[in-house]
Amino acid sequence: MKPLIVANWKMNPSSQKEAEDIFEGIKNGISGTSAEVVVCPPFVFLAELKGLTLGAQNVYSEEKGAFTGEISGAMLKDLGVEYVLIGHSERRKYFNETDESVNKKIKKALESGLKVIFCIGETAQERNEGKKEEVLERQLKQGLKNIELAGVRHPLTSGCLTPASNIKDVNIAYEPVWAISSGDPYKTKELPTTEKVKEISFFIRNLLAKIYNQETAEKIRIIYGGSANSENAQGYLKDAGMQGLLVGGASLSAEEFIKIIKSAE
Ligand code: PEP
Repeated sequence: MKPLIVANWKMNPSSQKEAEDIFEGIKNGISGTSAEVVVCPPFVFLAELKGLTLGAQNVYSEEKGAFTGEISGAMLKDLGVEYVLIGHSERRKYFNETDESVNKKIKKALESGLKVIFCIGETAQERNEGKKEEVLERQLKQGLKNIELAGVRHPLTSGCLTPASNIKDVNIAYEPVWAISSGDPYKTKELPTTEKVKEISFFIRNLLAKIYNQETAEKIRIIYGGSANSENAQGYLKDAGMQGLLVGGASLSAEEFIKIIKSAE
């Protein structure tokens, strides 16, 4: 299983020129990498960036029509986009995304032929109230509801199913919300230890095994996100055994992101 290293540029940078500079910098620094690298820029830059695997930061759950401001999976596919981030905590917090809307988006993205990076994670309050496991279980179960993976049905299945998705099309990103940076991944006050992340990754894989089965669960990549940088990447990948990283702030510097990619090789 190749490690998956994903750049989430969020609402950055401010111009096409800057986006191209960062993108070209990354591209030039990682030729021959053994990791799978995906860059998720804002929608408006997607068409002009070429030569690395592209991901979108969002997608709508309908195919087309009167949904002003939204972007469909088919439109993304047509641009050559391969991946999409779904359920990011910033979308849950600022744009009122719920487990239900996240589930609809995952279904539609898979139907459109996109690969999904499904983000889950507890807030500081949920962690402090001892609800971490409960929250992760709810997000995972509800988010994958009615989604068949590699021919295995989700137990909450009722009514229509997505077509049996390739197991490689679904990746889970564990992002404790309290560890996500507001831009500078070196300024975050608190980060989970590699032991804790390893524990959570076992917990998530066990849940996946309960939802589907052990064999299916083993094939799903579980990646870590939350202030990942070139100094802590190795720990989350090697010590915690994560199968990749979702990188926000640190992916806006080509140099820093290249170092992170190299630590996954
Ligand atoms: C993210 O946006 O998913 C993220 C993890 O951001 P950061 O690396 O800046 O914490």
